[in-house]
Amino acid sequence: MRDEARRFARALVCTSTDERPCEQCRECQRSSEGDGTVELDGSGKSGPLFRHIGDHPDLYWVDKGPGGTRVRIGQIRAAQRALRLGANEGGYRVLVIADAEWLNQNAQNSLLKLLEEPPDRTTLILASSSSAPLAATIRSRCQKVRFADETGMSLRGDDLPEDRAMVLRRFDTIDRAGLPQLLDWAEEYRGNRATAAEAVEVLLEVGSSWLGERVRSEVDAGNKDLRTKLDAHKTLAQCRKDLVQRNANPQMVAERALLAVRRSLV
Ligand SMILES: [Zn+2]
Repeated sequence: MRDEARRFARALVCTSTDERPCEQCRECQRSSEGDGTVELDGSGKSGPLFRHIGDHPDLYWVDKGPGGTRVRIGQIRAAQRALRLGANEGGYRVLVIADAEWLNQNAQNSLLKLLEEPPDRTTLILASSSSAPLAATIRSRCQKVRFADETGMSLRGDDLPEDRAMVLRRFDTIDRAGLPQLLDWAEEYRGNRATAAEAVEVLLEVGSSWLGERVRSEVDAGNKDLRTKLDAHKTLAQCRKDLVQRNANPQMVAERALLAVRRSLV
């Protein structure tokens, strides 16, 4: 997963219009890492608090270090200060927090402020083997992207239950769906509220994962402006809240979610 997160970050600054990271361009050469990377130390005693990916000035990396049991608040603050100094290359910046499941509570609180008001043209990547240790307030501000080596049920695994597989197939063709089709789709979530709400929860979960997959492939294809998709992801999170906590009408929620996803693809 660390490798995947690194590849993802490097792809964001690669200037190739083809497959990214291309390993050829100047950005890729600067972000490439040999075997010997500096070992971090969260206390700052035996190593730095954060480092760069390769020697790329716009790519930052934080992990708990070989001897650490936690990603510490001092590390987040140090990386945050560096980010606020402004993009060295006037371009795009990325902060990877590997071992994000080892962020302690204080570090998570500090990170929350950064997630709420991220500096311009800055992407934060929290690489974690599970999202469970992260506070709900952090999770709700992140777009979830499943990396290939993540264990558990994958979006397109053989073990995907049929109801999810069916929803997934429909998301795969949502680019071609017009407003009437989306409204028809949402209309399927009528009738008994409990049953419909359960089905809409599945819709929202699959939709979120599907968006994550899409973001990942767009990063690979060179699209750096992911705002519309991140907005759609936020809408899905809000939809789930309305559905579960506010007893919103499942059909209405489905409609809002599907329109938000569709709009983000334009
Ligand atoms: Zn490149």
